[in-house]
Amino acid sequence: MSDAPATPPGAGRSIRDVQESAARELARMSPVVDELGRRFTEAGEGLALVGGPVRDAMLGRSHHDLDFATSARPETTERLLAGWADATWDMGRAFGTIGARKGDWQVEITTYRSDTYAADSRKPEVAYGDTLEGDLGRRDFTVNAMAVTLPDHRFEDPFGGVVDLAHGELRTPGRPEDSFSDDPLRMMRAARFASQLGFRVDPAVRRAMTDMAERIRIVSAERVRDELVKLVMGAHPREGLTLLVETGLAEHVLPELPALALERDEHHRHKDVYEHTLTVLEQSIDLEHRLGGPDLVSRLAALMHDVGKPRTRRFPGDGTVTFHHHDVVGAKLTRTRMRALRFSNDVTDAVASLVELHLRFHGYGSGEWTDSAVRRYVRDAGDQLARLHVLTRADCTTRNRRKADRLRRAYDDLEARIDTLAEEEELAAIRPALDGNQIMAVLGIGPGRDVGDAYRFLLEARMDRGPMAPEEAETLLREWWSTRGRSG
Ligand code: ATP
Ligand code: MG
Repeated sequence: MSDAPATPPGAGRSIRDVQESAARELARMSPVVDELGRRFTEAGEGLALVGGPVRDAMLGRSHHDLDFATSARPETTERLLAGWADATWDMGRAFGTIGARKGDWQVEITTYRSDTYAADSRKPEVAYGDTLEGDLGRRDFTVNAMAVTLPDHRFEDPFGGVVDLAHGELRTPGRPEDSFSDDPLRMMRAARFASQLGFRVDPAVRRAMTDMAERIRIVSAERVRDELVKLVMGAHPREGLTLLVETGLAEHVLPELPALALERDEHHRHKDVYEHTLTVLEQSIDLEHRLGGPDLVSRLAALMHDVGKPRTRRFPGDGTVTFHHHDVVGAKLTRTRMRALRFSNDVTDAVASLVELHLRFHGYGSGEWTDSAVRRYVRDAGDQLARLHVLTRADCTTRNRRKADRLRRAYDDLEARIDTLAEEEELAAIRPALDGNQIMAVLGIGPGRDVGDAYRFLLEARMDRGPMAPEEAETLLREWWSTRGRSG
């Protein structure tokens, strides 16, 4: 389990560390960005590297996405990119952004802006601005409101972003209430950066998020989803999710999560399902090496696996608590939520099926399943088997070491049986390249013991050499037949 670090990774850096990282990273980008800067300057336009790449350069993280701000209008940008970029595309002319690729670098160039939300609209209204300073002032957080002008490398930091970055803190350039009122998505972005960067949010930001949480409802589901995905995929999802829950934002974007904070019954019999869920998420992240790296479906499944519990909770009256069918109910709630957030069908199906299957293993006990029960488990998991292994293993947060060990060994045993069965069944499915009729035709013989012997010979050859073409099998068969004729 990965415990949250006591100090955020971005915190406690000296300004000097930050400057050194930035200089190193900038030197790496220079050959690309300076040339582009010269093109724009020669055309009388300003160009600056802004936002993510500047911030991440200071954190010593390298970037292949380059975000730029420019005085040029999109048509001019397109013209200036022609002949320089390997490819360019219109990322949304309405937002003034042109995309391009240059070698390994992904480039986004956006015209200076000063956008605002009309009180009831779901998308920001874009108004072009005239200055870099004005553009930086419209950005979400001070650590994202720094720029390096090109090609002269002037560092612009009008809101003290470098100090906040060194402290690992998210503050807004102006009053957070005004910023979140202009674009409520910035509240989600605060939680996203808390997860990605491990930064704290400034108390004023947290207060504004709490007071204005409901405003997130005017933002489109797609934009909310994109931030939620980045949050969940961040290095510190517990921090980001906790912030969403504590400020009340989760109530609007993912109400199933705060609903897990069930009160304990009078006997303190069941653990807080909410806390359990965050721990399962962290434990599943620790197992992601089995999936080849960070995995959105696996993380969402961990997050959603118990969302059926609040609705299915019953107290039978004997001091116990039950959650019958919380797997099925949870899968349904998961589907509904993920559809509302406009997740793709593939991702939604995968997550819902994991939620539905997450309890199946508990019938396994100490290995009583028949082979056919094991086969059914594999068949029902389908493509999701590797993730189901991760989820089921992660879904054990008991403090009782012996119980945890017993569960782990039982799951090891199940996985071993799955492997053995798979191997046996693959072997059982192997056939030689020629069947009995073909063997008789090739050798010009009728039914009899020779056909069985020839078949077994070809099967052995298939085991030894792997798949072969019929012509190759035919040649082998004739050779075998002639030696056999001589010796027999
Ligand atoms: P990454 O691309 O690594 O996820 P990023 O900081 O580049 O992080 P983007 O969503 O690509 O994030 O946005 C680029 C920059 O644009 C940000 O750094 C920020 O300065 C600005 N920005 C993006 N979205 C908003 C917003 N909703 N309100 C204000 N500024 C924003
Ligand atoms: Mg970016």
